[in-house]
Amino acid sequence: MLGNVLSGAWHGGNATWPLHTRPLLQPAWDYLQRHHEGTLRSPLFPALLSIFTYLLLVLFYTVLDLLAPTWPSIRRYQIHPERTVTWQNIGATLALTTYNHLLYIFPAAVAQWLWRPPVPLPPEAPSLTAFLLGIVGCVVLFDFQYYLWHVLHHRISWLYSTFHAIHHQYRQPFSLVTQYLSAWELFSVGLWTTVDPVLLGCHCLTGWAFMIFNVWVSAEDHCGYDFPWALHRLVPFGLWGGVQRHDIHHLQPGTNFAPFFTHWDWLAGTACASTTKPPRAETEEDESGDSTKASGQRADNGA
Ligand SMILES: [Zn+2]
Ligand SMILES: [Zn+2]
Repeated sequence: MLGNVLSGAWHGGNATWPLHTRPLLQPAWDYLQRHHEGTLRSPLFPALLSIFTYLLLVLFYTVLDLLAPTWPSIRRYQIHPERTVTWQNIGATLALTTYNHLLYIFPAAVAQWLWRPPVPLPPEAPSLTAFLLGIVGCVVLFDFQYYLWHVLHHRISWLYSTFHAIHHQYRQPFSLVTQYLSAWELFSVGLWTTVDPVLLGCHCLTGWAFMIFNVWVSAEDHCGYDFPWALHRLVPFGLWGGVQRHDIHHLQPGTNFAPFFTHWDWLAGTACASTTKPPRAETEEDESGDSTKASGQRADNGA
């Protein structure tokens, strides 16, 4: 039943919607199918969609990072206005992202492309309700999965040092730190992003929208800017952690494990709304110009 609601298939797989109940998204879905069917059906499409969304977002934030030192109107939104993102930081983070994608993500996508037939596209678009509920469902599920993964990879020293410490080499993140990850972490995140919409029986359009949303909020969590449109300012009752809380996680790794919402950290007693530690590492980082080595040696799993 839930699967039917989320896929929007209330009238059965092949039934046609009466005109007055046609999904609002139908014209857009018809257009996409008519003009881009080959691309949409390719198993490579989700990986490419995710990568291009990520590159577009980090390009935007990186331009801001480079302008911020001389533009006070940008700097006033920075969480750590005293830090500067150097070309060395940009090169190091981009190099690992490129390495992971060339070595793991693209081969996995190509293997899927060779072994799996092109994905069939349903003729009907999801209803707007099914589309939005599907995204919310995927976000809630992903938040729980990553929360468990994250706590485990902080509490078990071997898991931390082998797979997660690399992400904590930056104590004051900037957008490119979003995918400064071990291959295992990138694989776990990619797997849930792909599988969760299938588990919840979502329409493929919902799945792709969730993928874009997930990349956007992950980049926002690391961007280092607390803009007026940041999600934690828009979602009421402090339910959304967002950039402020994830920034605190990088400074105080024993807090704020959930990537999106705050409820799991509230329940586990690991929620933290403001930092108590001075950002000492970044001062040294700026002096040495190499944050990877400077703060990496002090990596602290917060267990
Ligand atoms: Zn992070
Ligand atoms: Zn962590």
